[in-house]
Amino acid sequence: MSEIAEEDVTNFIVSLQRRSSSLVTPFLELPMPWFGLDIGGTLTKLVYFEPTDGNDYFESEEERISGRMIQRYLTANKAYGDSGIRDEHLELNNVTVDEREGTIHFIRFPTEHMPIFISLVKEKGFTLMSSTVCATGGGAVKYAKDAEMELRMQLHKSDELESLIKGIEYVAASNSDECYYYEDPLDDEKCRKVTWRWSKGCCASKHIDHSLQSQDGLQYPYIVVNIGSGVSVMAVHDQNDFKRISGSSIGGGFFQGLCCLLCGCESFDEAIILASKGNNKNVDKLVKDIYGKGYDNVGLPEDTVAASFGKLSNREECEKATRADLAHSALVTTTNNIGSVALNAANHCGIDRIVFVGNFLRVNPIAARLLSNAMDFWSRGTKKALFLQHEGYFGSVGCLEELVAVTEMRRKQREDSLSQSSNSSSSPM
Ligand code: ADP
Repeated sequence: MSEIAEEDVTNFIVSLQRRSSSLVTPFLELPMPWFGLDIGGTLTKLVYFEPTDGNDYFESEEERISGRMIQRYLTANKAYGDSGIRDEHLELNNVTVDEREGTIHFIRFPTEHMPIFISLVKEKGFTLMSSTVCATGGGAVKYAKDAEMELRMQLHKSDELESLIKGIEYVAASNSDECYYYEDPLDDEKCRKVTWRWSKGCCASKHIDHSLQSQDGLQYPYIVVNIGSGVSVMAVHDQNDFKRISGSSIGGGFFQGLCCLLCGCESFDEAIILASKGNNKNVDKLVKDIYGKGYDNVGLPEDTVAASFGKLSNREECEKATRADLAHSALVTTTNNIGSVALNAANHCGIDRIVFVGNFLRVNPIAARLLSNAMDFWSRGTKKALFLQHEGYFGSVGCLEELVAVTEMRRKQREDSLSQSSNSSSSPM
C-alpha cells in the first residue's frame, strides 16, 4: 500500500476546510461506518474498524486519504494524549463488518477527559473527514451537543442495552475463543481458564457435556451482568428479545470510590494490585467469627462473610488492618453483592448461563474467580459463570453494527431515490 505524502494530507484538509463553511455534514456525503463509541460513566470505549481488503473499500479519493490518515494515527500508536490507551491484545483480525474484511481496534480513555478527546479530534483534523459516529452510553446524550457543535460531527445515538447485546453477539460469533470459564476457581494451584464454546453444551458446571459443544454461536437463554460503574442485569432470550431485569449501584464505581477513600488509591489498576496483596478476613466478620464454625443448619460455610467490614468496629482489629486488607475487603464486598444480584436474577428467570462483562473485570481475576465459585456453590452446580475476553467493549462494538445498519439503510434510500429520478426522467412526457 502506498504511503500518503504529508502535502497530500495538507491539501486535502485545506480543500475540506474551504468546503466546510457550507458543509452540513450530511450522513451520505462521507459515510464512515468505522467508529463505535460507548461513553460510559467512568470510561469511554472507542472501537475502530480498519478495513484490510484494499482500496476498493473507499467510495472516493477523499475517503481514501481520510481513511489512511486515521488508520495511520490510530494503528501506529498505543497511547493517545495522556490517557487514551489501545488494548492491542484485544485486536480482532480478519473479521467482517458490512461485508468487508478488516481489523477491529479497541481504545479507551476516562470519560472525564472527553473535552480533551474532542480537542484532539479537532486538532488532528479528523472532524473534517468523518460525517457520523455512532455512540451509546449516558455520555452520548451528555456530550452530543459539544460533539455536534465543536466537531461538526453528528452523533448517531444507539440504545445502550441494545448495543451491548449486539456487541456480545457479534464478537462471540466472530471470535471462537471469546468465552471462557474458570475451573477450580478458588484453588490457587489448580485454577485455570477454560475456553467455552457457546453452543449446544449443557451449562451445569458439574455436568458439562464436551461432546455437545461446537463453535457455531450462542445458546439462548442467558443472563448478562454488565459490571461498569454500576451494574445492570439483562435476560437474553434471543438477539431481539432481551430485557433489563435487575441492577445495583454497588459496582465498579463503588469499589474504586471506596479504595480511593480508604486506601488513597489513585487508579483502578492500583486498587486491584493493592487488593491482591491483602486479606479481607482481617476486615470482614466471617461466619466462623460469630459461630466458631460454619452455620451448618443453613449451609453457610465457616469462611462466608457474615458482615463486610464488620471487624473494624473493634479498635484493635481496626488498627491491625492494612490498606491492602481494606482494598481486598472492598473488592470482596463489591463482588459478593454483584454475585448475589446475579444469582437472584438467574433464579428468578430460571436461566443457567450467566455472562459477566464490563470493565470492573479488567485485570481482575480475583473478582472473576469469586463470581465463578459463588455461582457454582450457591446454585449447587446448576448455574455457570462465563466471561468474555473483550470485557467492557461490547457496547461500542454494538454501535459499529448499528452504524452499519443505518449506513446501509441510507445507501438504499439514496439508490431508491436515484432510480426513481432516472425512471421519471426517462418516462415519456
Ligand atoms: P462505564 O460504562 O460505566 O464507564 P465500564 O464497563 O467501562 O463502565 O467500567 C467502569 C469500571 O471499570 C470502573 O468503575 C472501574 O471499576 C473499572 N475500571 C477498569 N479499568 C479502569 C480504568 N483504567 N480506569 C477507570 N476505571 C477502570
